[in-house]
Order: sequence, then C-alpha cells, then structure tokens
Amino acid sequence: MIIDLQRVALTYQSPDGEVDALENVSFGMEDGEFVSIVGPSGCGKSTLLSLIAGLEKPSGGRILVDGEPVTAPSPKIGFMPQRDQLFEWRNIWSNVTLGLKVRRQNTPEQEAHVRELLERYGLSEFALKRPSQLSGGMRQRCALIRTLATEPRILLLDEPFSALDYQTRLSVSADIYRIIRQEHKTALLVTHDISEAISMSDRVVVLTHRPAAVRAIHDLGTLRALGPMERRDAPEFRTYFNSIWKELDVNA
Ligand code: ADP
Ligand code: MG
Repeated sequence: MIIDLQRVALTYQSPDGEVDALENVSFGMEDGEFVSIVGPSGCGKSTLLSLIAGLEKPSGGRILVDGEPVTAPSPKIGFMPQRDQLFEWRNIWSNVTLGLKVRRQNTPEQEAHVRELLERYGLSEFALKRPSQLSGGMRQRCALIRTLATEPRILLLDEPFSALDYQTRLSVSADIYRIIRQEHKTALLVTHDISEAISMSDRVVVLTHRPAAVRAIHDLGTLRALGPMERRDAPEFRTYFNSIWKELDVNA
C-alpha cells in the first residue's frame, strides 16, 4: 500500500474551543490507484489532504506513506490546492518551474521535462504569458504541470475543478485524468461532485458529516476500464450515483 490511513483523527484547537474535524478515517491506496473522496461540505476533506501532505499532524491514528509515518512534507507528494495559486506577476514558465527552483532541482534535465509537459499539454506557446492571459482550463493544466514538475509519485487534488464552469470542467477533468494515467501517478481527488468522482476514479470513498469517518467505499469495477466521458453513458453510472447520493444524506 502506498497510502495507509489508520483510524486517523484530528481535533483543531481554536479560540472558540475544540473542533473535531476527523474522527476515525481508515482506508488504503495501492500504487497507481485513483481514489476520490466525497463528503458533505465542512466534513474534513481538506483537513485529510493536509494531514497526508504532512502539513498538519493527526491527533489520533497513523498515516503511512510507503510504509513510513508522515512527519513532514515529502517530495513524493504533490499537492494541488483548490485555487490554482499561480502567481500573476510571474509568467507561466516561471510559475511551473517555481517548485523546482525552491527545491534547487532546476537542472537542465528537469527543465527539459517541464518543457515536454508544456508541449504535450498544449501550453508551450504560452510559456511567456501571464496567468491572466490564459483561460480557466489552461490555468488548471498549468497548476497540474507545476505539481508534476517535481515528479511526485502521489498527487493530492483538492476540488481542483470547482472554479470552472460546467463545460470547461468536463473537458479539463478529462484532460487531467489522461495526464495522471499517462504519468502513472497515484491520485487522491477531493470533490463535492459525485459524477466527477465516478467518472475519474477507481474507488470512491464517502465520508460522513463532521467529524468525518468513512461511510462507504465503492469499487467502480468495470467502469475502471472506461474513460471519464464513456463512464457517464454507462448504465452502472446511475447505480453508483444513487447509492452515493443516499449515503451523503444531503437532507440530514
Ligand atoms: P471540507 O474540506 O470537507 O469542506 P475542512 O477540512 O476544510 O472541510 O474543515 C473541516 C472542519 O474543520 C470545518 O468545520 C472547519 O471549519 C474546521 N477547520 C478547518 N481548518 C481549521 C483550523 N485551522 N482551525 C480550526 N478549525 C478548522
Ligand atoms: Mg475543503
């Protein structure tokens, strides 16, 4: 197992008292797997990603990455936050190579790799443009390339498409799905969109209301072999959608 969450709990200390964000989250991920997490708003999804990324420490349970407890951010993990967080005053090239520079990995080989990613994903003509000159979808691809630049094996994606309109969202999520598969990454995607979770991942983890625990885990079985768009047309899609919808218990 590449990620192993064992009874993970986290209580935030805030001026107004304690907030239990996660109560008991356990699941594992195999190398190369694509898992989505869905759960009610405020249930602790972002908290869970920041724990796996080593940005916070659990108050209970254990998190293992490659069999080792997480103690600090690791180069094995790339984190793509909800906002693309591109720097407006830097051009695209400077944005996508920033992580390499910070880690002093900006060697000619690494930079050639980034150039190839820009080329492959249709952005090389935009290398010298500012983020504001790009569409929302192109910005998301840049944010992904910046995350891939340091060659992490694991990608943590926190609602990466939520700022996009529906059409853009469909095409960018299909794009990003393809990139993640081609690059043979292990990916953990947080989303509040059930259809997105079913169309992109191998398994879907449903969390309860805060403090989060695992409510259900769905293996998407035969859908796994299909691309995101084809899945939306498959008959099983509805079935998964309906069970997850019920588990999310939107009226509770
Ligand atoms: P989600 O991403 O599922 O919407 P979050 O993980 O962001 O939820 O937050 C879970 C809960 O923890 C929320 O009630 C939120 O208000 C609270 N929370 C998040 N970050 C902090 C923090 N730094 N200090 C105190 N409470 C926090
Ligand atoms: Mg969140």
